[in-house]
Amino acid sequence: MPAPANGERPRLPAVERLLAEPVAAEMIARSGRTAVVHAIRSVLAGIRTGEGQITDPRTILRLVEAHLADEARPSLRPVFNLTGTVLHTNLGRAPLPPEAAKAVAAAMTGSCNLEFDLGSGERGERDHHVEDLICRLTGAEAAIVVNNNAAAVFLTLFALARRKEVVVSRGELVEIGGSFRVPDVMASAGCRLREVGTTNRTHLRDYADAIGPRTGLVMKVHRSNYEIRGFTKEVAEPALAAFCSERRLPFVVDLGSGNLIDLSVHGLPAEPIVRDVLAQADLVTFSGDKLLGAVQCGIVAGRRDLVARLRKNPLKRALRVDKMTYAALEAVLRLYLHPERLAERLPTLRLLTRAPASIRDQAERLLPQFRARLGTGICVTIEPCMSQIGSGALPVDTMPSFCLAMRPPDGMRKEGAWLKDLAAALRSLPMPVIGRIHEGALRLDLRTLEDEAGLLEQLSLLQR
Ligand SMILES: *Cc1c(COP(=O)(O)O)cnc(C)c1O
Repeated sequence: MPAPANGERPRLPAVERLLAEPVAAEMIARSGRTAVVHAIRSVLAGIRTGEGQITDPRTILRLVEAHLADEARPSLRPVFNLTGTVLHTNLGRAPLPPEAAKAVAAAMTGSCNLEFDLGSGERGERDHHVEDLICRLTGAEAAIVVNNNAAAVFLTLFALARRKEVVVSRGELVEIGGSFRVPDVMASAGCRLREVGTTNRTHLRDYADAIGPRTGLVMKVHRSNYEIRGFTKEVAEPALAAFCSERRLPFVVDLGSGNLIDLSVHGLPAEPIVRDVLAQADLVTFSGDKLLGAVQCGIVAGRRDLVARLRKNPLKRALRVDKMTYAALEAVLRLYLHPERLAERLPTLRLLTRAPASIRDQAERLLPQFRARLGTGICVTIEPCMSQIGSGALPVDTMPSFCLAMRPPDGMRKEGAWLKDLAAALRSLPMPVIGRIHEGALRLDLRTLEDEAGLLEQLSLLQR
């Protein structure tokens, strides 16, 4: 319809007029009147403020239909993580095994014995669902579960050392992903940070000089995401443990990654094992969704009397986790009771231990399909790359892998914009595909690709 000669915008149909159309009735049957009216208003508002002059009711209702479809799509959606970072914090860290998904579904769709002792019929303790398993797998006397490892560290500091000093080496004042910084956590838990030593060297005498009547505990923090090399010295756990026990001070280790097994058995670089650290430390804190490969949660394990103080603290209630978390965590911990099959059944370990040759084979299978779909001109190749564990575990050690690398046609100007457009097109797929732009190519690291058919299906939907 042409714009009226007097320069006014053409009149848009009224909401009621649009609702009277037969297509609108179908939409109402599907999505409900409220949602359809809301969608119509949004589309009309968009037309009013936009450049276009759309006034035809049928065209408008097609836009309404698209708007409804858009709104019906969940915000939180599964994606293909092909970034090369196996435990990607922004992409939800550890993928869970089907055993965990099943347990979660069972616990959440009805009632469960979350805090109910089925033997006595009395009130129960929610941590009991996993405490025995954690103790069996780590050698701890007791354990509790909270929202994440940040909460585990916070609760430990708050319950054991509020208004007291906490002694930490200057080489261990880490920042994890911006929002977890050891000095800030200390301050918000009401503890005074007592830094000892220097960035590269801390001696036992530095700890000894810092201890006084106001000391609450001694803490060691795993340098999850960095290394200090060269002229260095740190006090190892056994020496620090003996020192703390002489002075009757709790010795707490924040491990970050909750590694329960000897990774070198699987050909991976060694990472401290909770059981070994607990042989020295009074308490250990670690994440449930890093190397452990379960859900987001934080675990504090160790001495019974100290764990009891954490459990009694009112803050535990504020930091406690839901039945779904216990269900998933218990299911994953049970897999650890059968270590011989762990690498096959626990997704995190399965992905970390994939043989480069098998990743290469997968790349060879996918290459022709990518080339055919992306068309001539675009250069798709198989290239070696390095995957990383992510989430602050073993920052320096990477694992050899293979990726599909996509480059713009030869002689293309604005190469960066081309790569960004391709990355955006992959992200806009129904199941978004997330890669990484690095050195002039968009790379899809295939280490973390298990659903090959699913990826090909997304590829077939790619609009180019
Ligand atoms: C990852 C990490 C944390 C934070 O753990 P979240 O589970 O992300 O809360 C704390 N301390 C260390 C040493 C870590 O590596």
